[in-house]
This record gives sequence, structure tokens and C-alpha cells, in this order.
Amino acid sequence: MAEYVYIHIPFCVKKCIYCDFLSMPYDESLALRYTDALCSELQMKKGSAERLKTVFLGGGTPSILPEECLDRILACISENYSLTDHAEITVEANPGTLTEAKLRIMLSGGVNRLSLGVQSFQDRELKTLGRIHSADEAIRSAEMVLSAGLVNFSLDLMYGIPGQSIKTWKNSLDQAVALAPRHISAYELTPEQETPLKRALDARETRMPDEELILEMSDLAIDHLAASGYEQYEISNYALPGYHCIHNMNYWDRGNYLGVGAGAHGFIRGFRTRNISDIAEYLERLSENADPEVERTGISSEDALKEFVFLGLRKVEGIRLADASQFGLGLAAAGEELLRLDLTEMTEHHFRLTRKGRHIANEVIVRLLEGLGL
Ligand code: SF4
Repeated sequence: MAEYVYIHIPFCVKKCIYCDFLSMPYDESLALRYTDALCSELQMKKGSAERLKTVFLGGGTPSILPEECLDRILACISENYSLTDHAEITVEANPGTLTEAKLRIMLSGGVNRLSLGVQSFQDRELKTLGRIHSADEAIRSAEMVLSAGLVNFSLDLMYGIPGQSIKTWKNSLDQAVALAPRHISAYELTPEQETPLKRALDARETRMPDEELILEMSDLAIDHLAASGYEQYEISNYALPGYHCIHNMNYWDRGNYLGVGAGAHGFIRGFRTRNISDIAEYLERLSENADPEVERTGISSEDALKEFVFLGLRKVEGIRLADASQFGLGLAAAGEELLRLDLTEMTEHHFRLTRKGRHIANEVIVRLLEGLGL
């Protein structure tokens, strides 16, 4: 049974050049039909959920939905699911698609956390990324969220953007902190396959900042945000005390969650699930009250261990030694060389990456998995 639900909204105004998430251009009549289908799936899956600790509407751009759709989805959740007293209900939003009326609907539907995709407060960088909004619009959206009374909001920022400098990155961090969000995500831009960014890089039409500069940006984020009271609790996530994202913590803890919507992934009782990605087929299946799930893969014990290590080490606190010994994982022996190189460390109750190790987290984790024979 799941206590966490992810709901996918696959619409955006237009595709950002780096994006490989499932999303398509927004169309109002399609959004209305998609809302019907989502509500059918939410009803269909309610038996797989316990009292919910979190609900996360992600995308795509959930805030692109008209008020009527937001209202119906939130009503459908409260009619079909029971929620714990302080359940975290998050909606992802993008500047340029958020209005006061939509915020009122979200608040009256129980939304108590909003994640705003800003990425940068530099117009030139926003243009490079293919974002639809300006820095001013991003600031206005954050101010609108605050004056609506939604103080628990998060800002997404990005570093490693072509043409970005330490000075512009610091400026974006300063601007983010000045808006007083409870949470900030700072992601390194990674060129994904089959994206316009990757094609432009391959054609040498643009280039990524060099590695040293990216490292400097990562260090700046850690230090600058710490000095402003934001504790890094995961490789890309920072929060004021008490404002970790509960929904995402469940992913890194390998907890169960239900995935609802086209292309949504879930994890239930050791099985990874995936819904059909094609939106037309998703609508058709739900119109016949058929399950949109197309994949259900059992996780082998070896893969479960790999996930446990890989996801656990994303958290700054690392892996609980008690959990590792339950799995029979000898982390100290396997990570001896990494400990010596100051890439990992052992605390009283945890095994974790050092700050140096977090800079090259994937490489360190691969070496650790090899040492563990996984
Ligand atoms: S707004 Fe987000 S989901 Fe939509 S295209 Fe841009 S990065 Fe992708």
C-alpha cells in the first residue's frame, strides 16, 4: 500500500531545450479530457493507497491547467483518498502560467506547498534554456505565491547553463534567497539525449561551461545557501529547518508510491510500475475504465541493493548503518579506498559522501557498488 501519490500533468506552453520529461503543447480540450481520465484513474487506484502523507502534482506544468481542471483534480483526491493531518500537497508551477485565481483554487483544495520552476534570474540564460518567462515574471510569480499566503514554496534553479558565469549564478542565488522560499533546488544542467540542447552541443553551436567552473558553481550554492540558513539535505536540494520535501525524501528512502497519469512511474511492494506514455492511448484506456499501467517489473534483490546504495547516498545524511547491516552490506570494507581518499565518511550511525565525494557522486557510487560486488 502507498502513502504517497505522484500525479503527472503532461502539458507545457512549449518545450525547454534541455527537457526530456513527458510533456506536450497545451491544448484546453485535451486538458479537460485528461482531467476526466486522471479522475477515473485516481478512483480506480484508491484501493492501493493508505492514508496519504503526500500528494505531488508534477509535470510538465500543472499550473498550466485551467481553474476548473485544478479544482476537479483536487476534489477528486479528497473524495477518494484520506489524508494524514499534515499531509504535504505540492503543485509544480511555472512563471507565466500562474494566476491569483488558480492559487485560490489550490489553497482551497488543500495545496500547502508550491514548487516554482524559475531556473535563473537572468533573462539571457532563460532565453538560452528556451524558458517561456522573464526574470521579472518569475519574481512576480513568487511574490504572488507569498501574498496568497502559501509561504511553503520552493524555487528551482539551474547551474552549468551555457554562457553562465559565477557572477550571474551568484546573482540568481541572491535573488532566490531575497524571495524567502522555504526550499531551494539547485540542479546542474545535464544534456540529455534527444534534446535540442544535446543536438546543439553535438553540432558545436553551443558549449557547456567547463568542469572547473561547474564545480565552483556547486561550491558557491552550498556555501551561499548555508550562509542564508538553507541546509543541503540532498545533492540538489536545500531547505530551511523543517522544510525538507517529504514527497521526494520517500523516493530516496525507496518508499512505496503510486504513479497516476500518462507516463507516471510508481513503486509498490517491490515492483516498479509505469503507465502508458502515449496521451491518446492513456485517454482511450481510461474511457473504457481499463488500467493504464503497461509495465510492472519486480526488482531483483541485487537491484534493490543497488537502489538502496545509489538513492541513500544522494541524501547528505547518507545510509543508516543499521539498515546497511540488515542487508548484509559491508560498507566500511567495500568503501575503504573511498574513505581513505576522503570521498566518503563514516559517522556514528551513517555512511555518507563527503562534500568532495558529492561533487563526483556518480563516480563514487559506481566505485562503491563495484567494491560491494554489485
Ligand atoms: S517547463 Fe519543465 S516540463 Fe515543461 S518543457 Fe520546460 S523543463 Fe520540461
